[in-house]
Amino acid sequence: MSSIRSTEWIALVDVNNFYASCERVFRPDLRTASICILSNNDGCVIARSQEAKDLGFKMGDIFHHIQDKISETGTKVFSSNYPLYGDMSDRAVSVYRQFTPQIEVYSIDESFLSLQGPDLVELGREIKYRTMRDTGLPVCVGIAKTKTLAKIANRIAKKNPEHGGVFLLEAEDKAQLQKIENADIWGISRRLTPKLQEMGIYNALDLASADPKKIRSKFNVVLERMIYELNGQSCLELEEVAPIKKGIMVSRGFGRYLDDYRKVQESVATYASRAGEKMRSQNLAANKLTTFLRTSPHGKDQMFYSNSFSITFPEATFDTTLITKAAWYCLKKIYRQGLKYQKAGVFLDGLVDADKTQQDFFFKPDTGKSKKLMSVLDKLNKDHGRDVVRFAGCGVDADWKMRQRMVSPKYTTRWADMPDVF
Ligand SMILES: [Mg+2]
Repeated sequence: MSSIRSTEWIALVDVNNFYASCERVFRPDLRTASICILSNNDGCVIARSQEAKDLGFKMGDIFHHIQDKISETGTKVFSSNYPLYGDMSDRAVSVYRQFTPQIEVYSIDESFLSLQGPDLVELGREIKYRTMRDTGLPVCVGIAKTKTLAKIANRIAKKNPEHGGVFLLEAEDKAQLQKIENADIWGISRRLTPKLQEMGIYNALDLASADPKKIRSKFNVVLERMIYELNGQSCLELEEVAPIKKGIMVSRGFGRYLDDYRKVQESVATYASRAGEKMRSQNLAANKLTTFLRTSPHGKDQMFYSNSFSITFPEATFDTTLITKAAWYCLKKIYRQGLKYQKAGVFLDGLVDADKTQQDFFFKPDTGKSKKLMSVLDKLNKDHGRDVVRFAGCGVDADWKMRQRMVSPKYTTRWADMPDVF
């Protein structure tokens, strides 16, 4: 069943309080501060430092409800700064790659590493040390024979400081497994727990000892595999190559309601550009584009309106000029005069490898030229900061944009924001 040889172990390396830790790297004065990160438009809390968690700030707290508490506790608040977080994530992964070529980047702050060696705890400590030394990010390392156990090992490392942030979990360690509740097992939703409890399964040890066949018939094959995984038998392989994304979506709420066609057009052009840029960074091209638009579902003075329109390109494209034209064409089909809009978005679909696009006999844009133009555009924006060069259709002042008033500098991705070190 397993393709991973038994001498190989799996480490889950997870950055502690990732967004808050990224903000801290360039602000050493905040090393012990309570930090909250806000969602787009500065609406609610989406990430917290440990100190903020200890003070009782919760995920989803509405920003303007907690302002008193923020000032009373001296909590530092940031708007989310995704260019910074994405870049710090890449840096951490490049440190992990020094230890093994076999990595699955599972999320922005979590990676699975395939490891071998005589002293894996020591290796885990080295990963932790070097990630801190080279990126400034604190991580915990959980090591075990399977991904499911590595997740649990990581949790143990994080919750129990006496392990120094690194924990190796043997499948035979019943005492540890018993402490892990169902809902804390990777892939088990809170919804499943009552049904498991009915069968007398309260924790990871109970589940590990359950009858796989019975679990399969009562639940599904996913949960059956979980039993093998908890017993140290690997069923979930490392997915080293990220699968081609199903689609790329760029969609945001506006900073205020818009009833001006030109402004909505600007926003759609901006989202189309961003989607094109994201797509090209993965060397993909899209076959299909959808624009959607809606009013607020909570609006009191007008009825709710939501609509979308799609077109299929004659051949897959990565060219922002075509993507923007298509997005505007779709917008025109769904825009209703006299409504106040709250959100629009562009979705690119049917993604294929940009080098293997099917040529349409009747539709022959100069792809060589367009490819060159797009790569120059992307390079300028990458080197000199986002939107140094952009299409006129995106507008100049972009006053429809969401407000992000407390965003930190893009320390690592924008020359002008590079920190000075004296
Ligand atoms: Mg994390």
